[in-house]
Amino acid sequence: MALIVHKYGGTSMGSTERILNVAKRVAKWHRAGHKMVVVPSAMSGETNRLLGLAKELSPAQKGAGYGRELDALAATGEQASSALLSIALQAEGVDAISFTGWQVPVRTNSSFTKARIESIEDARIHAALEAGKVVIVTGFQGIDPDGHITTLGRGGSDTSAVAVAAALKADECLIFTDVDGVYTTDPRVVPEARRMERVSFEEMLEMASLGSKVLQIRSVEFAGKYKVPLRVLSSFTPWDIDVETEAKSGTLITLEESEEMEQAVVSGIAFNRDEAKISVLGVPDKPGIAFQILGAVAAANVEVDVIIQNLSKDGKTDFSFTVHRNDYQKSLDLLKGEVASELGAADVVGDPRICKVSIVGIGMRSHVGVASRMFKSLSDEGINIQMISTSEIKTSVVIDEKYMELAVRALHREFDLDQPTDSLSS
Ligand code: ADP
Ligand code: ASP
Ligand code: MG
Repeated sequence: MALIVHKYGGTSMGSTERILNVAKRVAKWHRAGHKMVVVPSAMSGETNRLLGLAKELSPAQKGAGYGRELDALAATGEQASSALLSIALQAEGVDAISFTGWQVPVRTNSSFTKARIESIEDARIHAALEAGKVVIVTGFQGIDPDGHITTLGRGGSDTSAVAVAAALKADECLIFTDVDGVYTTDPRVVPEARRMERVSFEEMLEMASLGSKVLQIRSVEFAGKYKVPLRVLSSFTPWDIDVETEAKSGTLITLEESEEMEQAVVSGIAFNRDEAKISVLGVPDKPGIAFQILGAVAAANVEVDVIIQNLSKDGKTDFSFTVHRNDYQKSLDLLKGEVASELGAADVVGDPRICKVSIVGIGMRSHVGVASRMFKSLSDEGINIQMISTSEIKTSVVIDEKYMELAVRALHREFDLDQPTDSLSS
């Protein structure tokens, strides 16, 4: 008998019919003798609907307590789906109980809309499991030290599930979603993308941080830190497939780097359309200029991603960086205002229609020339690279958003990701 955590995403919970399907799948695992904890997302579209209502009432999204109320609102989506799943399980003859974030409790910090989990009390869950129940823990939410409801950022139910698995020392955490595993890139953009049988934590961490939303980045961080065996698999297979077969399906996120995995130079391609570029033009090229620009942006609580400073000409230089698209206008206004005059910049311009495309692979460590292959492939397609950023196991480029799909497809071909290999194929 093992202790297993299942997580079901929004599409998997998208209708009463699908919830019934989830209930049948969970009941099957329960009847196979496992202790089951289930973390559901809100029904698909529900979180967007709720956040949309708030924006209708407060287009400027302002108010001292706005973030608090937004979380109280958004958390209801998961609360409803959890109760519905418990009802469905009980209808299937399985004893089940749902707990909200504050009933567990899942303790977080107070960063509304992007709270971090600090601890999870396991007593109530364990007691219910001992009583033979299937336990449903509401995803995406927690409670802060002052008793306010918090949420964990978009896609946060993945993190709830892995954190619960870590707290309970579960044998495995299975993330059920609308694709049957982690692919070499988003299969909705590149139909030739292939499912990976295994992917290393390091690569998954990069893929998630660079835009592959199949797992929220913090869920991968948790899984790595607490060594939670993690698997991504489909909730759209027939619910009654055999438990042993299902337990081996999908993609395993693994701590071990096997030899074959190292042979693949590039394992996956990630992309992110959520960024925007800002350029401060004609600033005096002198010490402290980067700090002056980025310090002002950081003080406004905006995270900066890729940064580039051009060669100086006549003592002046251009400085560009990317921010999340939600922070674009705020950052532009800020720099156009007082900072530009203080900096002596000629102009501040921006472009919200950019995207970042990245190649990821632990094999890049031991292979040279991978980045130049990437640049050549993009240039063959006539795609201009605006910015570049590299680390040991990834290279990212910022390009015009309209070339995103072309770039991803070209790179997918260039690095032979369309072809089955021993390391990646199933
Ligand atoms: P859920 O609601 O189950 O959490 P998400 O929509 O958050 O599902 O994540 C699953 C989606 O992630 C897939 O439908 C797919 O379009 C997208 N995705 C992006 N990159 C990848 C990838 N490398 N492999 C698989 N899916 C990916
Ligand atoms: N319902 C939340 C969202 O849409 C959390 C999740 O689905 O993981 O972002
Ligand atoms: Mg998700």
